Amino acid sequence: MITAEWKPIDELVGYVRGFEKVLLVGCATCVAECAAGGEREVETLAPLLTMALAKEGSQVEIVSGTMERQCEPEFIEEFAAQAEGAQAIMSLACGIGMQMVAERFADIPLYPGVNTASLSVREEPGLWTTRCEACGDCVLGETFGLCPVSRCAKSLLNGPCGGTRTSGNCEINEDTPCIWNRIVERAHARGQLDSLVEVKKPKDWSNSPAGGPQRMLREDLRP
Ligand code: SF4
Ligand code: SF4
Repeated sequence: MITAEWKPIDELVGYVRGFEKVLLVGCATCVAECAAGGEREVETLAPLLTMALAKEGSQVEIVSGTMERQCEPEFIEEFAAQAEGAQAIMSLACGIGMQMVAERFADIPLYPGVNTASLSVREEPGLWTTRCEACGDCVLGETFGLCPVSRCAKSLLNGPCGGTRTSGNCEINEDTPCIWNRIVERAHARGQLDSLVEVKKPKDWSNSPAGGPQRMLREDLRP
């Protein structure tokens, strides 16, 4: 899922201060799963914002709602009437959903209520850890299904770096497993350690976010 976290309340107050009516809108998908932008979080944040604004003497009407998915135009359209009366929109969706809403309601200022964090899994209650950076050239087939791009602190394709702690955790962050240690363990368990001996060539980064805006074109799906 795409994870996100609330921005500090002071930052949110700063965004909407001075408006008379603001639409606070959540998304019922990824950000709901990570407890940052679903219906429950919208219902929690709306009165918090109202109170924080009232405390400094600002009267801002916060109307709120939660879209099924902010990244799909048909769900955004359902909020057209609500958006019409708003002077600003604060979105609790990931950066993708926010931009879709900003495109649809281009004449209304949009403010982010969350910081989009990563492509992660919920490992245990209250803990999400990254699994992918959408690098555009997946190497999981060579690394026993474990991603060194997103899960090694140095994104090494030929690891480990030599700094793995005796606990098996990363030298950069002792709370994080050294993913290369796990890759080696998995290779060993499968009797395929030899497959890690050959030095891997640099991978193709041209389709990664570092290569500029990405574009995926599927001719078979086009009208
Ligand atoms: S190798 Fe790239 S695409 Fe594959 S899981 Fe890792 S970051 Fe994601
Ligand atoms: S200790 Fe492991 S995870 Fe950490 S940087 Fe080195 S190879 Fe990567």
